[in-house]
Amino acid sequence: MRYLFISDLHLEAERPDITRAFLSFLRERAATADALYILGDFFEVWLGDDDPNPLAREVATALAQLANRGVKVFLMHGNRDFLIGRRFCREARCTLLSDPQRIELNGEPVLLMHGDSLCIDDLGYMKMRRWLRNPVSRFILRNLPLKTRHRIGRKLRAESMARTRLKASDITDVNLGAVADVMRQFKVRILIHGHTHRPAVHDLMLDGRPAQRIVLGDWDKYGWALSIDQNGQQLESFDLT
Ligand code: MN
Repeated sequence: MRYLFISDLHLEAERPDITRAFLSFLRERAATADALYILGDFFEVWLGDDDPNPLAREVATALAQLANRGVKVFLMHGNRDFLIGRRFCREARCTLLSDPQRIELNGEPVLLMHGDSLCIDDLGYMKMRRWLRNPVSRFILRNLPLKTRHRIGRKLRAESMARTRLKASDITDVNLGAVADVMRQFKVRILIHGHTHRPAVHDLMLDGRPAQRIVLGDWDKYGWALSIDQNGQQLESFDLT
């Protein structure tokens, strides 16, 4: 069995090069995998499944085609697209995962996360996350008129246009104590996450035994994917063209 993991594509109309690279990734690399896991911040912003956005339709159609060919597709929320809901998942024929999500790969338990909840040293962000992600705020956000959500989206975009895309140095890294805690809690020796834009394979010791934290890369200058099969794992970058 071969599994693919990607995250932090930050798909948006302003970066057609990334969308193009993702669509060819689906046709080429993903077509021969058994499952594709998308671990959050798939979209730069998500205003709701009812937003008639052509990029979302194009991406949903491509994911559904992959699923129709027998590749299982799993999607986890990130901090930017946490409003993705059941309607999009039905359209894209993908399964929404919880965060964290424990799975088994070739008999080995593995924990999947987006990664933002491990960045506990960024106190301001954690406070905002608690507010945004609680069910009441989420209900309110989802039920604002689409016009209001578009206004919020434009405001967010204007702010992000002022700077370039988020570099790793703009994002607080994970707290290693929080990493050890969650790996112990879920009894895993492998953790895979994104969010920090610091792609790497970290070997670590957990309670005297070797463990690994694999960090996926963001798609900006390059695309990134982790591939796992019986022979091991490979974290690779590739050109966007
Ligand atoms: Mn993120």
